[in-house]
Amino acid sequence: MRKPTSLERLYVDFDSFFASAEQHLQPHLRGKPVGVIPVDSEHTGLIAVSREAKALGLRRGTFVREARKQCPGLVLVTARHEVYVGLHHAIVEAIETVVPVKAVCSIDEMLCALLPAEWPQALSMGQRVKEVIARDIGPTLTCSVGLGPNDLLAKIAAEMEKPDGLVALHPDDLPGRLLALDLTEVPGIARGNAARLARAGVTDMAALWRLQPKELRRLWGSVEGERLWMGLHGYTVERPETRRRMFGHGRVLPADWRSIGGAYAAARVLLAKASARMRRAGFSARALALWLTDRHSAGWHGGEHFQPTWDDPSLLASLSRLFFHAEREEMHGSRSVHVALHDLVPLAEIEEDLFDHTPEAQFKRRMESLSVIADRFNTSHRKALLHWGPWVTIPGGYAGAKIAFNRIPDVEDF
Ligand SMILES: [Mg+2]
Repeated sequence: MRKPTSLERLYVDFDSFFASAEQHLQPHLRGKPVGVIPVDSEHTGLIAVSREAKALGLRRGTFVREARKQCPGLVLVTARHEVYVGLHHAIVEAIETVVPVKAVCSIDEMLCALLPAEWPQALSMGQRVKEVIARDIGPTLTCSVGLGPNDLLAKIAAEMEKPDGLVALHPDDLPGRLLALDLTEVPGIARGNAARLARAGVTDMAALWRLQPKELRRLWGSVEGERLWMGLHGYTVERPETRRRMFGHGRVLPADWRSIGGAYAAARVLLAKASARMRRAGFSARALALWLTDRHSAGWHGGEHFQPTWDDPSLLASLSRLFFHAEREEMHGSRSVHVALHDLVPLAEIEEDLFDHTPEAQFKRRMESLSVIADRFNTSHRKALLHWGPWVTIPGGYAGAKIAFNRIPDVEDF
């Protein structure tokens, strides 16, 4: 463990990204209150609001009907995720003319590690990043840049003066401005943890700052508490490398898709997308999980385990068995649907049973080859032209990768 004495990390966080992206792409929306919705429906919430809408009191999550009431001039735009992904890649390219991106943290957040020679000029590099984005992308899509001795403090700094901020949290000045934060503004302190801290008498940053690392670990009930302490106090925390554990997709369904048939049609598309991603990454799965949720009940969850599998027909057959059980167990509709391929094995590690000449095994080999051929064909056409069985377009035009997760889809995911 190390305690840096300089600004070693630069964090970029875009301001109201989806809303600013629409204002960037559609100039007539600039200066207007804009709300982005996931699907064209009255029964959904805003997933992003422009700064003009924020000034009128709208927040992420406000329901459409409520938002219209609060802000009669509101312009609603349906999210176009594939377009935002394109912008994301252009942004990364622009940033990399100044400094390489070390980690993409979400579609609109990137972390960069500065070299020792760059540490003294960290602030001017932050300024440069903002300038190249304004120059190469455009002035509407603004970002806030944070600088700090480690990842966590750089991220916190980026949040401090939104929008269009540029803030450095220098290790010599700690705790300094950290003391003005609410506990829940610290990444990693969710409401549950805040409640736990409150029960221990820790209700503000000053009290949190006085704790010892072991105390925070005990309050958290895990080593994460100690990691958070280290991060806040300016240490670099090396995390054990995380191994990919699953490929999954999920969707909240539009109101008229919430029957079991609608959920099944959507789940097939989501599973096919997930399995194509899995194959491209060189994995096969030994398990498939399905979650159906319902506003009124705990929902339904089911799963199947199998020999390492990576062809679409086998995976879709497994999905259809899971839906059969869901329906049998009285799950007649679903508000959202999630599928995940997990218990992964790298394709290179699968032990091929060369003596397995049963017709079933040979059929599966053929399905594997066909899945790969379909992937290649679809990738080159940037569209799912070859698929197994019925294929639907889920309203909202977005059946692919879920951006809310910490993973930026490739263009092939759409
Ligand atoms: Mg942001």
